[in-house]
Formats: sequence, C-alpha cells, structure tokens
Amino acid sequence: MPYSYDDQNIFARILRGEIPNKTVLETEHTLAFEDIRPLAPVHVLVIPKGPYVDYAHFAAEASEAEIVDFNRAAAEVCRLTGVTPGAGGEGFRTVSNAGVNGVQEVPHYHLHILGGRVLGRMLPRE
Ligand code: AMP
Repeated sequence: MPYSYDDQNIFARILRGEIPNKTVLETEHTLAFEDIRPLAPVHVLVIPKGPYVDYAHFAAEASEAEIVDFNRAAAEVCRLTGVTPGAGGEGFRTVSNAGVNGVQEVPHYHLHILGGRVLGRMLPRE
C-alpha cells in the first residue's frame, strides 16, 4: 500500500514556518529542533524536509542525497549537543517510533536523539 502523507501534521507546519521551533541545525534536506516536551536533558528531533511518514517510508523512497544529509545531520546534532561518545560525550540513544505499535504521535518521520543522563534500559522486559 502506498504511503499517505498528511501535510497538516505539526512537523509539516514547522517546516512551512507556521509554528516556531528551537532549531539546533538546518541543512539542505534536514531540520533538527528541540523536542517541546523533553524526556532527557538533550532531546532533539531530526526530521527530513521531504514528506515521509516514517523510517521505512524515508529509507525506501528518499533520494540518496536526502538519506546521506539526514544521517550526517543527526551525527552533527550529537556532536553539537555534546553527547557523542569518544568526543567528550557520555552517549545517547536514537529512537524512531512508527505506527500504532510504535506509538507514533506525529506522522512525519523523525529521529529522537536523547542524552545528557543515563537513559535506562530500552524497554522493560514483560
Ligand atoms: P512520536 O511519539 O515519536 O511521534 O514523538 C513526537 C514528539 O514530538 C514528542 O516527543 C513531542 O513532544 C514532540 N512535539 C510535538 N509537537 C512539537 C512541537 N511543536 N515542537 C517540538 N516538538 C514537538
């Protein structure tokens, strides 16, 4: 089934400049900004500027230029926020929620970058 993108989602509105954001980094194809309800001292969302619903959509249909730009921007956000291990940081976690089981709230692909404290195990064991 083809992906259907809702261009009224909040991140689409941020990209159109209709809603403010606290930008950490902007590149040709990517925007990174602070999460409005941070779960850790560092909580940045990295989003492609293109209309992709989730990780699988982006990885399948984005151009190589978009994919490279996105990944390099995410790494640069880790560097800028000081969480990169081996570069003076104490580490981080990247998370991308998708769909109902992933409990995705905003249907525009985004990578959460979390750090600045010990984050605990990824999920509790059932
Ligand atoms: P997810 O559950 O993975 O879709 O996460 C969506 C994230 O977007 C949540 O962590 C929200 O706090 C965050 N969020 C929602 N609206 C905004 C906004 N206007 N600016 C920044 N972050 C937002």
